[in-house]
Amino acid sequence: MSRIVQSHWLGKLFGSIFTRLLLVLILTGLCINMLVGGFFRHFYASQKALFQTNLTQYASYLVQDLGSPPNFERAQALSAELAIGIGYEGLESTWTTSEEIVSIDTYRKHVWRRHKANLVGEYHDHYFLLFNQGPDQFVFVIDEIDDTRQTLFVLGLLVLLTVVLGIAYWAIRRILHPIRWLNEGVQQISQGNLNHEVPARRVDELGDLARAFNAMTARIRHMLRSKEQLLLDVSHELRSPLTRVKVALEFMSKNKIRQNIHEDISEMETMIGEILENARLRSEHGHLEVQPVNLMDLIKQETEGLTCQAPGIDLQWLPQEVMLPLDTDRVCIVLKNILSNALKYSDAEKRSVKVTYESQNEFAVLHIRDFGAGIPPEELPYIFEPFYRVDKSRSKDTGGYGLGLNLCKTIMDAHHGKIEVESTLGEGTQVSLFFPKVLTASQ
Ligand code: ATP
Ligand code: MG
Repeated sequence: MSRIVQSHWLGKLFGSIFTRLLLVLILTGLCINMLVGGFFRHFYASQKALFQTNLTQYASYLVQDLGSPPNFERAQALSAELAIGIGYEGLESTWTTSEEIVSIDTYRKHVWRRHKANLVGEYHDHYFLLFNQGPDQFVFVIDEIDDTRQTLFVLGLLVLLTVVLGIAYWAIRRILHPIRWLNEGVQQISQGNLNHEVPARRVDELGDLARAFNAMTARIRHMLRSKEQLLLDVSHELRSPLTRVKVALEFMSKNKIRQNIHEDISEMETMIGEILENARLRSEHGHLEVQPVNLMDLIKQETEGLTCQAPGIDLQWLPQEVMLPLDTDRVCIVLKNILSNALKYSDAEKRSVKVTYESQNEFAVLHIRDFGAGIPPEELPYIFEPFYRVDKSRSKDTGGYGLGLNLCKTIMDAHHGKIEVESTLGEGTQVSLFFPKVLTASQ
């Protein structure tokens, strides 16, 4: 099973369905705004001619009101009443109602709309309208453009839009939350935690999916239990006939056939022992018998039995004493399995197996390193599975049923420890056993 790993934070962000939905939401919002904005822009553009005609008409009324020649006092009164500035340049006189009003020539340089003879524009934060009547030229200046109000309005709009988007995002996350639960559920199941159930309270399609997921895991659980039970029953049933065959063998004359049958029976007995031991440790009644033991004594004891096997075991820099709360018999099973694996999968002519000790914060760690065949990286995740062997063809030299590491893991788990395997194909394998330094309540 391959998993896409997105290490970069940007990759992670855009790999999320929630971010993508938010982007779709923002883009949809932008498109709707542009469409609505475009429509109104077009609509008002068609109304512009009418507006400018009205503006010209309004200016001509004002000029009429000022009289001929234009009356300065009347201009001042109108300026105060309408909050506009008026500038006049004629043949005989020139006046302005405010000192801020500049020459009409200057305004002419800043026009941005031309309609008939009138000129509209913007100069120094003021809108203006130029109006000619014969030789008389007028400029009407409207009060300052209120930029801050406009900015505040736009800012307010942005804040409101952000709030609306935030609420939409929150709602999407809430609606799609079961996807996260299901994702976590799939991960838990793939790690072997078949008892994991995802919340299935929702009454929608995702709720249905969650219920279907739970039903599926329950079914798998049931199937696996039945399989395990069958294996246990068969193992139990095989014990008595095997013992009977062993007794019967004693009456056979000592020859090669008897020797072979004896070896096969011993192998089967070991396998059955491992299956039953594994099941016992996993069951509610399978307690460890923990007492303070010197781990170094155990490793020395286990290596002694294997010294004659090539390429040999090299105990390096081991301390004299590492007292730990351990179940001696079970830890011996682990050490025996790991050491015999290291020897079994090593070349007799290669370097000997190296055993080193390391003290970490809460763990006493034993590293068992061999320089043998190594394990292909794609096989590594499965080597703790029962009956899993890299070399599927069982040869007489390597023997085994692929149960050793499975039992080791069960024993290490029962001690609240860990077992880790690092391996490079062709270079060798290192198995690290992590024993907790202090006793845990449930051991
Ligand atoms: P059993 O332990 O039941 O006698 P086994 O040794 O084949 O049989 P495990 O100890 O569970 O089974 O190991 C599983 C598989 O992992 C082995 O078949 C082997 O392919 C691989 N393996 C384990 N240890 C090593 C190692 N040190 N070097 C290379 N391969 C290894
Ligand atoms: Mg083994």
